[in-house]
Amino acid sequence: MSTVNIAIDGPAGAGKSTIAKMVSAKLGYIYVDTGALYRTIALYISENHIADEDIEKSLPGADVSLRFIDGAQRVFLGDRDVSELIRTPEISMEASRTSAIPAVREYLFGTQQKIARENNVIMDGRDIGTVVLPDADVKIFLTASPEERAMRRYKELSAKPNCPCYEDILCDIIERDYNDMHRATAPLKQAEDAVLVDTTHLTLEESADEMIRIITETVGEERK
Ligand code: C5P
Repeated sequence: MSTVNIAIDGPAGAGKSTIAKMVSAKLGYIYVDTGALYRTIALYISENHIADEDIEKSLPGADVSLRFIDGAQRVFLGDRDVSELIRTPEISMEASRTSAIPAVREYLFGTQQKIARENNVIMDGRDIGTVVLPDADVKIFLTASPEERAMRRYKELSAKPNCPCYEDILCDIIERDYNDMHRATAPLKQAEDAVLVDTTHLTLEESADEMIRIITETVGEERK
């Protein structure tokens, strides 16, 4: 039987990964965070000081892979688990910039499709429903207002040292939204057949319940 593929797209900070993880755990799917792949390429480029004009030819040497350990995704650069190292504001911005390069997107395209072919997945990103999995069983476009997304990120970071201020986080979010929506290749946009879920006024549990409702309504209980 073919695998079940659920595509979730949306802007930075809409809650995609947290909600998709909750839903995957409930439905028994593998959760794939494709942003981690773009972040790892960004880390590779910045660690190796690769100039833009050399990025394309350097990609075959990058050796980026996803591994699933106890059901949780880890991302590797060669043999190094970089899952935590890629979660900095600098890498967020570098990923947003370098993900606009067509060669970077092409390089990661096959990796994402292979995982979806071999597993029941909930895959989140920016172009999953539009480009990577155009035939996904269910497509959801998850969003929230920029102010709400910035406030959530601020609350998440405020416990940590060197937390940026709310205004800086909001500026970063607006800049990343703009980059993601205006790039020439695979820009962030809602697929025509995607269901819009706006989480601005929803709790995480309410958002997850709504997503489960949409998925089970479309895929059916028996294929959960
Ligand atoms: O989802 P996350 O914020 O970790 O993604 C980091 C960056 O990677 C995004 O700002 C976006 O530019 C890029 N990305 C992408 N396509 C995806 C997933 C992420 O372009 N499918």
